[in-house]
This record gives sequence, structure tokens and C-alpha cells, in this order.
Amino acid sequence: MKNAIVTNLKAVHERIENACRISGRNPADVQLLLATKTVPAADIRTAIEAGEILIGENKMQELRDKNEVLGQLPVERHFIGHLQTNKVKDVLKYANCIQSLDRLILADELQKQLQIQNRKLDVFIQVNTSYEESKFGLSPENVLDFIQKIKNYPTLNIKGLMTIGLLDVEKEKMRPSLRLLKTIRDEIYAAKIEGLNNLKLSMGMSQDLEIAIEEGSNMVRVGTSIFGNRFLGKEIWNENSAE
Ligand SMILES: *Cc1c(COP(=O)(O)O)cnc(C)c1O
Repeated sequence: MKNAIVTNLKAVHERIENACRISGRNPADVQLLLATKTVPAADIRTAIEAGEILIGENKMQELRDKNEVLGQLPVERHFIGHLQTNKVKDVLKYANCIQSLDRLILADELQKQLQIQNRKLDVFIQVNTSYEESKFGLSPENVLDFIQKIKNYPTLNIKGLMTIGLLDVEKEKMRPSLRLLKTIRDEIYAAKIEGLNNLKLSMGMSQDLEIAIEEGSNMVRVGTSIFGNRFLGKEIWNENSAE
């Protein structure tokens, strides 16, 4: 298992570098985040020891349980799953960044808890660029308005935009929803909001990372291609489904 993970990591880095070469981008501008839902802590540790520095969990419980093993390791922990407001307090114990900010009540709760703790937090705004009912995230039309509302929340560092995008066996069908995230960022830039002139795009997974990089991704979130297939319920990003 250890060897497989190291081999897979190498292959994923090669895919990232190839995609960068093809689209004339600098590989330094595309980070790899390990999507580690359902992956045992020992396997995550293997990847961290191989040099990885970014991990992302979807569920508070997994974040907490694995922290016992991974807590001391030098790695940035992102939360990438749907976040219920009643779990904010717990998630804040472990996460350095929340990529799934998708509604005002969640922003309000984060602001409230972070103010109590007197700290700031990096966030990505999640956008439902594929318009699928099953996916979380703001509608593309509402992102600018949402940003106008939260831009002055002193505890939130808006780092960028995140999307899952449409997954399909046909590669080209995945492109439009990824391209849309960049279009939304252009709209935000056009609005010239103070402090928001360097937003990262978090998009691209095992299936679509090449296309995502061609469309401007700065962070791909990869699980399956590194850790193998996981046993899944029907909705992997829905915090409610497996509890
Ligand atoms: C699981 C997951 C990923 C990674 O998906 P893979 O297909 O396993 O690479 C990326 N982003 C989110 C939000 C996820 O839940």
C-alpha cells in the first residue's frame, strides 16, 4: 500500500506537470490537495511523508478522528465537504481553511465563532457551476452579490473560488462548468473589490484535473488517483448522507 501511494503520487504530479506544459502554465501555480475522505490515517501519513502539504476532509468526524494520528504533522488542513452550521465550532478546532462556504448563515456563524476565538480563517466560496441539484454551492449568478455581503467580514480571508464541476465519462462535457468558475472570477475582478485581486481557483479531481488546469485551476483536489477507489454512499459530498 505504501509503495502504491508513493507511485500514484508521482503519477499525479506528472499529470499536473504535463497539463501545465500543454497549457503553458507554471506548475508552481497549481497545488495538489489530497482529498482524503474514507482514507485511513496511516495512508495519509504516507503521503505527507512523501512530501505532500495539503489535505482535505469532507466530514467533521473524520477530521477529528484522524487528527489523533496526523495532528503533529506539518500539513495544512482544508475542509472540503458540505458544512452544517452546528459543526462549525468543531471544524474550527482542526481546519486551517474552509473551501465550502456557500451561504450567508454559514458565513455569519464562522464570523461569530472566529471572533470569539480572535482569529482569522482562509475560505473559498463554493459555486455550483454544473447547476446540479445534488451539488452544494452558490448559483453562479449569486456569487458577486454574496461576496459584496461578506467582503467586510473581518475574520474571513477570501482566498478564492471552489467548484466540483460536472463529472462525465466524456471529457469535453466537463469543461464548461470548470471554465465558468474562471468567468465568475473575472466578473469579481471587474467589480474591483478592494483586496480581491488574487483569487485562486480550486477545481479538478481525479477525472478532470487536466481540463481543470487548462481552464486555470490553482488547486486540484485528488483522492481516487492517489488512494484508490473508496467505498461510497451515493452522495460523497453530502455530510448528511453517511451519518
Ligand atoms: C472526493 C472529493 C474530491 C476528490 O475526488 P476524486 O475523484 O476521488 O479525486 C475532490 N473534491 C471534493 C469536494 C471531494 O469531495
